[in-house]
Amino acid sequence: MGYSYQLAKTMSNKLYITLIRNNQGEGKDLSELRRHTFSNTVDYRTLKKFVLKVFTPCKCREVHTRHKQALKESTSDDATLAETEELFDDWDGEANVTKRLCSGHERAIPIDNLVMDLDVKEEGISTLFCYLELHPHETWKLENLTNVYSTCNIQCYGGPALLQEIAKKCPPVAVAIAKAKKDGINFAGKTDIDFPVVEISDCMGWDSGPVKRELKMLMWNMSGANGPRRTGVMVEFANLAFHYRAPGDLTEDEIDDVIMSLHTRIQKQEKAELTNLKYLFDTLHSVSHKNFWMCADDLDEKKNDKLKIILEDYFQDQTDFKAAVLDATEPELSSYELNQVSSDIKQFIHMYSQEHKLNGRAIARVFHGVASPCFPATTWGRVRRFWRSNINIDFNLLIKLATKLLIQLR
Ligand SMILES: [Zn+2]
Repeated sequence: MGYSYQLAKTMSNKLYITLIRNNQGEGKDLSELRRHTFSNTVDYRTLKKFVLKVFTPCKCREVHTRHKQALKESTSDDATLAETEELFDDWDGEANVTKRLCSGHERAIPIDNLVMDLDVKEEGISTLFCYLELHPHETWKLENLTNVYSTCNIQCYGGPALLQEIAKKCPPVAVAIAKAKKDGINFAGKTDIDFPVVEISDCMGWDSGPVKRELKMLMWNMSGANGPRRTGVMVEFANLAFHYRAPGDLTEDEIDDVIMSLHTRIQKQEKAELTNLKYLFDTLHSVSHKNFWMCADDLDEKKNDKLKIILEDYFQDQTDFKAAVLDATEPELSSYELNQVSSDIKQFIHMYSQEHKLNGRAIARVFHGVASPCFPATTWGRVRRFWRSNINIDFNLLIKLATKLLIQLR
């Protein structure tokens, strides 16, 4: 934290700690530490994008309605019909929201795509998945699974006929080909296929694990007397993905609730971290020595005792800490700062809005020197005019201001 410390034992065997401040700009230390927090927060719009992706809509409800219809038409026996209807009404009834029609689907979202799409680091997205898993919700459940490869690539060195042959042997390949044909891909003379193996397995109602093992087996012919022989089929998996199980029939209201609760949680986390940093920074500052020589010869018992009280409070009941948190006021900008930073933001928008997808947070991050997947430090660190240019301005104020100016200049 920009401090060095010295431990000393006196004759009476008491332990003394002396803090010495680094002489580089003190306000900067705090800004440096805050950057770690800002690189992990995600805004509302990004969260919405994330949640909608995670809870990809499924066809369970549609299938259920069709199934119900078919049963109605085929069942002539009144008693059975009543019984079946009762069973289905359990699910349809508004009052019975706790009974979820969809039992959950195995899903995989390629990590690299999602990172670039959301402009959030992999660790940040993993944290969001953890929040979803820990979400205390009674009507749905998300279970995180180990990351897996989500794409299967099959190449048939034996020619197009071989691809047709394995499609007959291995239903997932047949389904993948059918799906690709529906999307307009022509398979005449084609010897290879790429397909989302987890998605295909799920739509067949199978787990992707056994399906992948079966696909791998396509490479080998086991029937020969001389042991396994290569078949001329190459099966490979790629695209490491976030892997989880979640229902796909969440209502709009439920989706809104999920986004809101994630948002609240992230805001709380950010606020707690920032207050914590500020408190530690200020209190340690109050008991530190500006220069080494000030404490080289004599021990400052007063500062030493105060520091002990601060540390004890912080690591035990946090009374002083909590009081300081309550006192914390919202940051404000002077009119000079406001003019300065507004003009910086306008220039930034003017220079980069053509070639980059800008939003308030992206601009605030650059101005604080917080790297993100779409705005990496290797590139943006060289843009001296803007990188870390407004590190003294409150991060969230910057977001608000940049968002406002983006809308105005559109
Ligand atoms: Zn479903």
